[in-house]
Amino acid sequence: MKAVNERLLNYVSYWTTSDENSSTTPSSSREFELAKVLEQELKDLGLSKVLLDDNCYVYGLLPATKGMENTKSMGFISHIDTAPDYSGKDVKPQIIENYDGNDVLLKGSGDYLRVKDFPTLKTLKGRTLITTDGTTLLGADDKAGVAEIITAIEYIIENNIPHGDIWVGFTPDEEIGAGSDHFDLDYFKADFAYTVDGDYEGEVAYENFNAASAVFTFTGKNVHPGEAKDIMKNSALIACQLANELPNTETPATTEGREGFYHLIDMKGDVASTTLTYIVRDHDMDSFNHRLDVLKSLEEKYNSIYGENTVKLETSISYNNMLSIIEKHMYIVDLAKKAISSVGLEPISRPVRGGTDGAMLSFKGLPCPNLGTGGYGFHGPYEHISVEAMETVVKIIVDIASNPIEK
Ligand SMILES: [Zn+2]
Repeated sequence: MKAVNERLLNYVSYWTTSDENSSTTPSSSREFELAKVLEQELKDLGLSKVLLDDNCYVYGLLPATKGMENTKSMGFISHIDTAPDYSGKDVKPQIIENYDGNDVLLKGSGDYLRVKDFPTLKTLKGRTLITTDGTTLLGADDKAGVAEIITAIEYIIENNIPHGDIWVGFTPDEEIGAGSDHFDLDYFKADFAYTVDGDYEGEVAYENFNAASAVFTFTGKNVHPGEAKDIMKNSALIACQLANELPNTETPATTEGREGFYHLIDMKGDVASTTLTYIVRDHDMDSFNHRLDVLKSLEEKYNSIYGENTVKLETSISYNNMLSIIEKHMYIVDLAKKAISSVGLEPISRPVRGGTDGAMLSFKGLPCPNLGTGGYGFHGPYEHISVEAMETVVKIIVDIASNPIEK
């Protein structure tokens, strides 16, 4: 059997940064390089229905063992791209055996991975730690997920563990919000699945934000400032006034846990025309809808003050909280919690302050909570993971797969 860390170190040698400015799928053709490797690995393991499609999605099926055909089919999903926030090219991992629990020098940059910034490092003392050299991210997000899934599949095959149908799926472009866009649910015939894309290895997350974007466009009237009295309408000033109506206690910088927010992500403007772009987030659906109503009422208020068509609001829903789907299928969460307990960990379910591919898949008909990978500090030079955490996640996946649910 190939060790899970060997697999990870192989995968991170491929440059798979996704490109947020691209309109193609995959967003960068380099993602195919790793996808081809995974396609071959799944074939070598003897999986059936192995497919690398034109959109750079890799699928495979480990068919049910004899007598297990009447159990629900499950799936495991992870993504092969890395975040465009930081370089993912020429990753040179540092491997630290018997880690002493102290700050780690990242030798390529001279920077340190500090315990003060990542207190969970203390819990990794004595383990084999894999870090970056400071010049790139690591790519454990989410190549650790890929390595853990494939290693678990190999373990199940080699140890003749009885199981139902197990699908695996690897997606491109998760980091630019497009990982579920072309996920083929007509091909990937699982009844439920898990993304393996979180941090703490004992986590099963099944709540995420409801999310919308909201753009206010303000139209002003520009005349010479010397002759502007009672004529000029300064759209930039009107926009500032409206922005100040939203509570500054409800921003990303002032909220945590299940608290929602309005987040002004962009403003552009002059006298004649100004736009304010917000994202709106809330776990609770009523509270989320209330936030959208508040924005709508501000549009109406400012049109009544400054005249019709001064402000135009356009909102669009980005994704919803998968809780509303998962709560109808709690056996999926319970199965994961049992597996996490079976390896001696306390299962933890925190509300995700973001979205997951699984949330979008859940609304497309594939209920899909998120498991931890064991990695931390994603999307930058401080990304790290321990070999032991990866081995634990492999065991969790094996345990889930070996306890299939009756149809
Ligand atoms: Zn990820």
